[in-house]
Amino acid sequence: MAFEVPPLPYDYAALEPHIDEATMHFHHDKHHQAYVDKANAALEGTDEAHESVEHLLTILETLPEERRTVLRNNAGGHANHTLFWEIMSPDGGGEPEGDLAQGIDDTFGSLDALKKAVNDAGVARFGSGWAWLIWDGTGLAVLSTPNQDSPIMNSDEPLLGIDVWEHAYYLKYQNRRPDYLEAWWNVVNWPAVAERYERARTHVGAASG
Ligand code: MN
Repeated sequence: MAFEVPPLPYDYAALEPHIDEATMHFHHDKHHQAYVDKANAALEGTDEAHESVEHLLTILETLPEERRTVLRNNAGGHANHTLFWEIMSPDGGGEPEGDLAQGIDDTFGSLDALKKAVNDAGVARFGSGWAWLIWDGTGLAVLSTPNQDSPIMNSDEPLLGIDVWEHAYYLKYQNRRPDYLEAWWNVVNWPAVAERYERARTHVGAASG
């Protein structure tokens, strides 16, 4: 089945004032749709047409060169944005609870230290890309990827990712990427991140790091 852009689980204006309505329309309806359309076009009629997007990202190296890059960018873009909509919420912000809170404290020292590490990774990413909290098979880590590269390509499980492409923030924040990153934590959906954390840690055959 061809990939589809999932409907936003909240209204386009619901993340105001941190993420503005116009950005959400362009980002979800135009940018994400373009990744899906290009990925589907590259997959049509191929042996990989029915693979999940996650599996596809782990087998890029086996694909013919003319499809490898277009799928790296566009299947990657589809996976990244699908996650992005899920881990934001109009009721977001605050602090994580339970195992995730414990894991963050054990690994980074505090929630503020995690936020700083993610924001620093996002600011340091030259050009376009993502800042991530991932499960690497044995523990939590922060990293960034260029373009639409997904942590899944390295067998890491993305738990939280912040889009630092200009299309994600430019209408409201212009060149102020650090302000966008700071504001983003007001919409983070911690229960959704915690669910991903639980799934990653209990997933049989998950990344071994
Ligand atoms: Mn984006």
